[in-house]
Amino acid sequence: MEVNEWRLVIANQQETERLAAFIGEHSWQGQVIALDGDLGAGKTTFSKALAQALGVEGVVSSPTFTIIKEYEGRLLPFYHMDVYRLSLEEADELGLDDYFYGQGVTVVEWASLIEEIMPEQHLALYIEWIDEQQRCIQFRARGERYVQLLQQLKEWSLLR
Ligand code: ADP
Ligand code: MG
Repeated sequence: MEVNEWRLVIANQQETERLAAFIGEHSWQGQVIALDGDLGAGKTTFSKALAQALGVEGVVSSPTFTIIKEYEGRLLPFYHMDVYRLSLEEADELGLDDYFYGQGVTVVEWASLIEEIMPEQHLALYIEWIDEQQRCIQFRARGERYVQLLQQLKEWSLLR
């Protein structure tokens, strides 16, 4: 399987939102984005901007307590998960594959906690806190389509 990695320093929240919007504008049915990083890194901020790019209207809030939230987007449905409170066993029982291989785009906050049951092909973002504004994002694309998306992201970042 094709794998590619890349690292990008983000200057502020607006840049995180633009990055997420770019991914949202280049999404497809069954796309899976894995997000990791400490509390306050920007996982939910990223998710909200991606949802907006998919044409989700209204409020997208953190699914910490509900685990999964589904939204109708103008372009595609959006499935937002936060698996922080889930055991691997519970996650397994939830049947997450219905979302991963469903009609929409899935974003999983704390995805590394359920690595064993994540689809093999996905784009993973590890967001690291540098200071109040800056973040370092480490990307890992697995699978041809995600490697291609990461390539597009690299080109986009040069032009922004
Ligand atoms: P998480 O879901 O990872 O816990 P949140 O998105 O809820 O993180 O919180 C990130 C916080 O950091 C928000 O208050 C946001 O305004 C702030 N922030 C500052 N700079 C950035 C940045 N470059 N990217 C994302 N969030 C940022
Ligand atoms: Mg969050």
